[in-house]
Amino acid sequence: MTTSLCDDRFISISENLKKIRDDISEAAVKSGRKPEDVKLMAVTKTVDVKYINYAITECGIDLIGENKVQEFLSKKENLKLDGVEKHLIGHLQTNKVKKIVPFVDMIQSVDSFKLAKAISDEASKLGKTMNVLLEINIGDEESKTGFDKAAFTDSLFEISELPSIKVKGLMTIPPVCDTPSESEKYFSAMSDFYNEIKEGNYPNFDFNILSMGMSGDYKEAIIHGSNLVRIGSSIFGARIYK
Ligand SMILES: *Cc1c(COP(=O)(O)O)cnc(C)c1O
Repeated sequence: MTTSLCDDRFISISENLKKIRDDISEAAVKSGRKPEDVKLMAVTKTVDVKYINYAITECGIDLIGENKVQEFLSKKENLKLDGVEKHLIGHLQTNKVKKIVPFVDMIQSVDSFKLAKAISDEASKLGKTMNVLLEINIGDEESKTGFDKAAFTDSLFEISELPSIKVKGLMTIPPVCDTPSESEKYFSAMSDFYNEIKEGNYPNFDFNILSMGMSGDYKEAIIHGSNLVRIGSSIFGARIYK
């Protein structure tokens, strides 16, 4: 890669990551865990491949998240993905399942039994098991994707019988709040819910990931038990949608 260091954006990516990692360590320790117990995902939607590659090869990023199937597929040939885990974090339509299952390590945005089944069916065909997270609409917002708690409880048993997925935990995007401390009640509710499900020991559930916290609220999310934060704009700068 020809990295022109004249581009200030490379420098700010590396400085941003330094600060974010310090914050993550501090919040992890505050919540009684070790810094390495909380995983950092770089959210790469709309970000140019040269900046993503820089974050991977120069700054040690080893987990990326993309929202859209098409965007990820068109970027991936140009990404330096050796040793990098790839997760889909955006809403997935069942008709795109076939396109994405072969290429990602986890789908974090499973929000219906129908989608979980489509993923399991496709993974079966490929002879693999797909790791997934179930997305919870913790604020019960009409506009948001994700299971509401009642629908989730109804689907739990069915999902736990699907043969070719492994449910590794939960993901959420809480309602937009005016202050980070307002988000805390949602993070706290998520954490309780996660522990409750984990203790249920469902057949194909292997709970060890609670994915919550983004640029504006990752410290609060970690304090309340998140062990995977998904950070985009605080690493790469404000997104420019084309
Ligand atoms: C875009 C996005 C993020 C990252 O958001 P930032 O506020 O830029 O950190 C995290 N999770 C999901 C599901 C997203 O779509």
